Formats: sequence, structure tokens, C-alpha cells
Amino acid sequence: MLSLLEHMYHELGLVEEFNINPIVLKRWLLCVQENYRNNPFHNFRHCFCVSQMMYGMIHLCKLWERMATEDLGILLTAAVCHDLDHPGYNNTYQINARTELAIRYNDISPLENHHCAVAFQILSNPETNIFANVDKDTFKRIRAVSPYRHGDNIIQWGYLLFFLVRKLFKFLKMVLIKCCDISNEVRPMEVSEPWVDCLLEEYFNQSDREKMEGLPVAPFMDRDKVTKPTAQIGFIKFVLIPMFETVAKVFTQIDEVMVQPLKTAKDRYEEMKSVEEAQKQATLSRRKDKKSSRSTGETTMAAASTKSNSHTQMNSPSSGRAFRCWNWGQRV
Ligand SMILES: [Zn+2]
Repeated sequence: MLSLLEHMYHELGLVEEFNINPIVLKRWLLCVQENYRNNPFHNFRHCFCVSQMMYGMIHLCKLWERMATEDLGILLTAAVCHDLDHPGYNNTYQINARTELAIRYNDISPLENHHCAVAFQILSNPETNIFANVDKDTFKRIRAVSPYRHGDNIIQWGYLLFFLVRKLFKFLKMVLIKCCDISNEVRPMEVSEPWVDCLLEEYFNQSDREKMEGLPVAPFMDRDKVTKPTAQIGFIKFVLIPMFETVAKVFTQIDEVMVQPLKTAKDRYEEMKSVEEAQKQATLSRRKDKKSSRSTGETTMAAASTKSNSHTQMNSPSSGRAFRCWNWGQRV
């Protein structure tokens, strides 16, 4: 993964553009890798996937025709750094649990601020500063598209996107970063599905901890409420498809390569959901049949018991109670 990322910087002409020392590039990538934690989802492999998707989009959309090489460098670097030192628990947890990060950033996008701070901390070391040779103005522009600015409220993005891409071209960079960040479902099923498992594992870790600490739990993270298809259908339908369709208005190539696979993924998860529901229904009716056949058996036994004890029953005021006790015993 490290050498592939390195290749991307060379192939896009970024090493030349920013006059990057090739050894510093290697050291920087290694340092970035070390600063990703071993979370089920937000790990270095996720960083690689997002960066590779960005690289793919740059080529697919021939972004060099619309952007300067400097912008391509900013996009790729933002993708590489976008989840640095992610702790595996989201902003809501950070804020509700009053973590050190939430306190440090006054509850304002603690994670995004942290990823950004770690990225510039790495760049502050001359040994890992790939932008050591750029002028002050270029460095300012690099800081302006910092990862934390891509925000975590993706639904708002859906509504704002159309206006952003049309009127404010500079925001397109942030939109592209966001698209790449949540693009797993664009990939073939063999690649995307294990990522859903990883994401759910991270979500369940968080919700288990929230339950233990008495904090609010989001239903989409709760292992008792969410399944793989239910987690994905709404996300693909209401977030991913509208978002990529809007970007496809600017870059038409995206429609065939990204929007169509998203629609296929949605259909697949809907099918998966139907199968799950059918299985659930079958289990329920099996249980119901078992229960009703048991209660028929109980009635038959009760009738036999009533018949054989008719004399005692007629003479004993407690007989009815005795029957109820027997019946109760069976239920337990
Ligand atoms: Zn990410």
C-alpha cells in the first residue's frame, strides 16, 4: 500500500509540482501509516481505499483538465490524511462521553479537528514534511482544504451539493474527498461487503460501550437493531446515490462507473433484506406451530386428566387450582 501511494504522488506529477524530496515522501507515508490506529474500520487500509478512490476519480474525470496539479496534490493528501489517529469512536461519543478530544475542541467536530492537527503535526517535522519546499501562499491553500472541513454531516451535503458544485467550484474538492470517503459501495461486492462488517464491528464496539457507560445509543449502531442490509439500504438510497448523482452532473463519467454500481448494491441489499425477512417469518411460524401443537397436546392431556380425576374433582374445591398449577408448570 505504501509503495502504491508513493507511485500515485510520482505518477500525478506531485513530486515535481511540490518539489518533494523522494526520501521525505517515503518517510512521510510511513509516518502517516504509523499514525492510523488498528480499528476495525478506521485504519490504514481505509485510508488507502479512500486515497486510491481519489486517484481513480482524478483519472476517470480527467481532473487535470479542470484543476491545477497543486489542487490534485491537495486532494490526494487530504484523502491520505483524512482519518489520522481515528480512535474508533465517533464525534457523538466524543461529545457525550466528554472525552479529552471533545474538551480540547469545544465539541466542534473533535475528530476532524484532530485528524487535521495530527496531519500538520507530521508536516511540522522537517524529516516528514512533503511541503517543505512550497512557498507560503501554496501552504496556506493546502491548509484551506484541511480534512476537518469535509465535515461529518453528510446528509446536509446531499442538499447543498448541487449549489456547491455549480457556484463554488473550490468546494468541489471537499465534496470529492467526502465522496471517496464513503465510496466503498461503489466497489465490487467481494470488496465492499467485508467493509460493512468492519464498520458494523466498530459501531457495535461503540454502542456496547455507550450502553455500559449509560450514554445515548444511536439505533444504526445498536447490534440489537441493525443488520447488514438495513444498515446499507437507507445509506445507499438517501445519501450515496443522491450525492454521486449530483457529482455526475458535473462529471458524467461517474454515472456509469459509480452511480450504476451503487444502484446494483442497493438492489442486492434489498434482496438480502427480503431473504432475511422471509427466514425470520419462517422461524416465527415454525415457533407458532410448535406452540400450538404443544397446547393441543396439553388440552388432550388435560382432558384425560379431568376424566380420570372426575370423582376427586367433584369433591375437591382445590382441584381447579391443582390443574392450573400443572398447566403453569408446563409453560415454565
Ligand atoms: Zn474515512
